[in-house]
Parts: sequence; structure tokens; C-alpha cells
Amino acid sequence: MALLKVDRLRVEFPTRHRTLVAVDDVSLSIDAGEVLGVVGESGAGKSVTGAAIIGLIEPPGRIAGGEICFAGRRIDCLPDDAKRRIRGREIGSVFQDPLTSLNPLFTVGQQLVETILTHSDRSAADARRHALRLLGDVGIPAPAQRIDAYPHEFSGGMRQRVVIALAICATPRLIIADEPTTALDVSIQSQIIALLKRLCREHGTAIMLITHDMGVIAETADRVAVMYAGRIVEVGRVRQILRSPNHPYTRGLMESIPRLDSDSARLAQIDGTMPRLHEIPVGCAFHPRCPDASDRCRENRPALRMVDDPAAVACLLFDDGRADG
Ligand code: SF4
Repeated sequence: MALLKVDRLRVEFPTRHRTLVAVDDVSLSIDAGEVLGVVGESGAGKSVTGAAIIGLIEPPGRIAGGEICFAGRRIDCLPDDAKRRIRGREIGSVFQDPLTSLNPLFTVGQQLVETILTHSDRSAADARRHALRLLGDVGIPAPAQRIDAYPHEFSGGMRQRVVIALAICATPRLIIADEPTTALDVSIQSQIIALLKRLCREHGTAIMLITHDMGVIAETADRVAVMYAGRIVEVGRVRQILRSPNHPYTRGLMESIPRLDSDSARLAQIDGTMPRLHEIPVGCAFHPRCPDASDRCRENRPALRMVDDPAAVACLLFDDGRADG
């Protein structure tokens, strides 16, 4: 049984003039110990999907349809205090800016100890010992000397390690990591990715890794779901999708990954931009940017269909489970 199962999720943001749909009919699952990458440009609906799973959709935004089940239990319709208990204890989170997760007024040790005490019945002394162990686990050098420092005394990469230590305090079964490396230097990015992968391997933690960067997915994830304009347009094993992406949008994302064996100084870009929520085109939402678009793409919205188990794609070229173009 999947650890997390999201079924036909729909998230809406009502405005004075209309209701905007940020996530539309999204289904996905993550097994224990698996890294699922969720990739797409800004505005694709990735972060809203992650926020819905951890129960952090800000009103008036709301889950308007579908179900979210975690460890066999439906969690999207739980009261707020039950959602809060799951968040942190069973589902941890790591966001792009570590400073949003850390309180500048408290030392990292105080924050770790408080989180550990909230989620366990350890004594204060034992919680501090555990905090030291966690700081060592996430690669903070000389944790005994750093535990009483404040967040601003750490570099960006070290702060993100502290946030990861906070996220794993309660040994959650799932971590939602939303652009965890975007604000960091490239060399630090790969260290943080290696750290997340190690945690996944050693603790059996599942990770939903949200990123705009197909290169990060290639390095980290087991499977990937590609999102565009609030919907999943392609999903499958990373190796399979890297080898032969089916959806024209996925192909565009792939061409934007820097390649060591390429002489080209410039990376390919997908023409145009992601539509805003109030101007998502009818038909296939990608058609204004798609090099393969035909007239029928302007009228018909493609459903996500299995093409080669477990790979699925939402593109009219594959409408009968096979390419016709
Ligand atoms: Fe392109 Fe048409 Fe496929 Fe959409 S349905 S991705 S416009 S070919």
C-alpha cells in the first residue's frame, strides 16, 4: 500500500470575480522510502499540491475535491489540530528559505529541543543529546560548539541542514521538500541533495521533492510527476523519462538541463510562459507553447493515460495509448 495517496485533488482560490483552480484533478502516490520528484515551472501548481498535503492551504483557498490519504487514513478532512499533529510528527517539511522555518530569536539547539519535546516524551537532557546527534547526522561540523548558536550565525547551506534536522526530529515517514536547494550555491545544492537521499535510504523516509529544476530530479528522484497549469502532464520512472520523455513540455524541460557532453553554450528554453490561473487556455493548456500543437489541441483537453506502465502522459499525440504524431 502506498504511504501517500492523492486522488483527484482539486484546490481552488475563490476571488471576487471568479474561482481560480490552482490544482486540477491531480492524482499521485508515494511509497515508503521513495523519492517522488514533482517538477514544473513556477505557477504549475507544485507547491499548492505540497501545501494541500501538509494542510497548509491559506483560506480562502480550499481543497474543493478529491482525497488525500496518508498511511491508509484520510487526512484532508481532519480538524486543524489533528492536521497540526500529523504535520511535524508524521509529515515533515523543508522549504526554500530556511529562515522561514527558523526563529531568529532562539538558538538552533533551543528550537530543536523544543520540537523534540513536542513530539516525544524524552527528558530535556535526552532531547538535547538527541539534538546534538541530529546536527551531526545532517553534517553540521562540531555540533557541540554550534548547538547554542543563532540561525544568523550559520551559512545558508548550514541553515538548510538545521531545517532538515528539525524536519526529521520526530522521524516523520514523509518529508515534503519544496525547492530545498534553490537558494543555495550549486556545490552546496548537491550536498543537500545527497543528505536527503541518505536520510531516505537510512530511515526509509519518503520524500516529495518539489522543484523547477529537472537536473535536481535527475540526481535525486525515483519517479517524477511533471506538472503544467495545475495538472500532471507526465509521470513515470525518472530513468525512463530521462531516456525518452513523451510529453512535449517534459522534452522542453529536459533540454534545459545543462549537459557536460554538449558543445552548445546556450540551453534551450521553452518559448512563452506558464499561463496565469485566470488565463489557462481551453483545450490542452500547453498548446500556445507546444511545437507539436494541432487544431484539435486547441479544443480538447487530454486526459492522463498510461503509455508504458508505470509511465502516463496527458497529450493528444498519445490519446489511444500510442503516439500518432
Ligand atoms: Fe502539444 Fe497537443 Fe500534446 Fe498538448 S495535446 S502537448 S498541444 S501535442
